[in-house]
Amino acid sequence: MTRNRLSRRTMLKGATALGALAVASRGALAQQAAPATRFAAGPGAPLPARGEFVIRGASVLTMDPSLGDFAPGDVHVRDGAIVAVGGQIDVSNVQVLDGRGTICMPGFVDTHWHLWTSLFRPFVRADVGALGYFPVSSRLGPHMTPEDSYRAARLGIAEALSAGVTTVHNWAHNVRSPEHADAELSAMRDSGIRGRFAYGPAQGMPDDQPMDMAGVARVKRDWMPGDGTLTLGICSRNVGALNVAGGGARGVITIDMVRQDWGGARALGLPITMHTSGASPIMVLEQAGLLGPDVQLIHALLTTAEERAILKARGVSYSLAPTGEARRPSSVGVIQLAELLEAGVKVSLSTDHTTNYNCDPFVAMRILFALHQHRVGAKFPLTVKRLVQLATLDGAVDLGIAGRTGSLTPGKRADIILVRTTDINMTPVGDPYEALVSLAQPSNIDTVIVDGRILRRSGSFAALDHARVVREAQEAAAALREKAKWPPA
Ligand SMILES: [Zn+2]
Repeated sequence: MTRNRLSRRTMLKGATALGALAVASRGALAQQAAPATRFAAGPGAPLPARGEFVIRGASVLTMDPSLGDFAPGDVHVRDGAIVAVGGQIDVSNVQVLDGRGTICMPGFVDTHWHLWTSLFRPFVRADVGALGYFPVSSRLGPHMTPEDSYRAARLGIAEALSAGVTTVHNWAHNVRSPEHADAELSAMRDSGIRGRFAYGPAQGMPDDQPMDMAGVARVKRDWMPGDGTLTLGICSRNVGALNVAGGGARGVITIDMVRQDWGGARALGLPITMHTSGASPIMVLEQAGLLGPDVQLIHALLTTAEERAILKARGVSYSLAPTGEARRPSSVGVIQLAELLEAGVKVSLSTDHTTNYNCDPFVAMRILFALHQHRVGAKFPLTVKRLVQLATLDGAVDLGIAGRTGSLTPGKRADIILVRTTDINMTPVGDPYEALVSLAQPSNIDTVIVDGRILRRSGSFAALDHARVVREAQEAAAALREKAKWPPA
């Protein structure tokens, strides 16, 4: 792993040296070489070291059914892995993180998020159809440079970490070139977050053009497995007709094209994700023999009982993005959490995008609970603990990484958050699950640890430069406005 990284760096140095022969001056070299290596696999910006520490005295929610909870409890971490979890761990001469007054739990796992759209906040309006998320992102997406993609993804990840999200499924359906892919992957690597990069098509790509499978294979070769924090998949265009307001711009492909794209992913051993807004495509996919445990679908609004039985049988998962789904008209369906859980379908939670709402896993759980109570209620009892499980362990199951994250289980990687319970909106705290679902907000996130690296502590980033993330996002958004001549005349 380390050797691969070093050899990659050596190769880059070699390429630079060759470039030096072809140019007349060092200045010209810098101008020519920089774009080629601005985003590339290999070592990125320095991250905090994975050390050894123990979190002491927290209210520990392991989300591991065999371990249960500890109040108070300790968590011992060494070299990126959870070593022990318990009531009081006997370890000395290691760094101590005071967990008193906090809930210690696995970081949230966000299973569907278009990080590349994070720059579009100045352009969208939730209450004006023509300025909605779909028309804005499809209009501005084609103008994005790799640098824009990097800045957008980095902004989204910064928000994810701020909100306690330690794993993100980056649903990148605007991969305009290999360098755009490298840019988004670089943002993930440089921030230290865990995640899957779902390599997608580009906005505006012709529906009769297959996905760039050579590009996907190249990313697999260059970037995977790295240090194990990033994985790879593809995001598929839709099959059938979009039915959401302002929709139709995301690519709608024939079942033959689906077969071709998915076949390419499967030949590389990569998982697949697809939106299912509008008419449900499940029967079409089933009849084509395409459904399997490597498929994740998004937005369960219109599934039938027969379709849910198929999803259960095939091991297909569904990601719900309740914050945005709750804004859709009931004519395009309702959030079918109870129906999916009752059928035994794998379910997880996601943010979708952060253009006209923020990343708030607490609000996602809260909306889901409210809508469940509103529509279903006692007919299918839903506990607050199950909602926290959906936002953590079930997300890891959905992404196929539950062996590595999603619960505080010894042997898993240390993806841990501390949520302050002494803040005004949380105190005096009672049942911790009730507090998380009913009361908490991202500002209560005190500490964020990913793969044993402490990436955020007392509300400050350890690796990301907050001011730079903000400034460069603002500059990129302003430049996009000019390039795209937004708003349209
Ligand atoms: Zn989406």
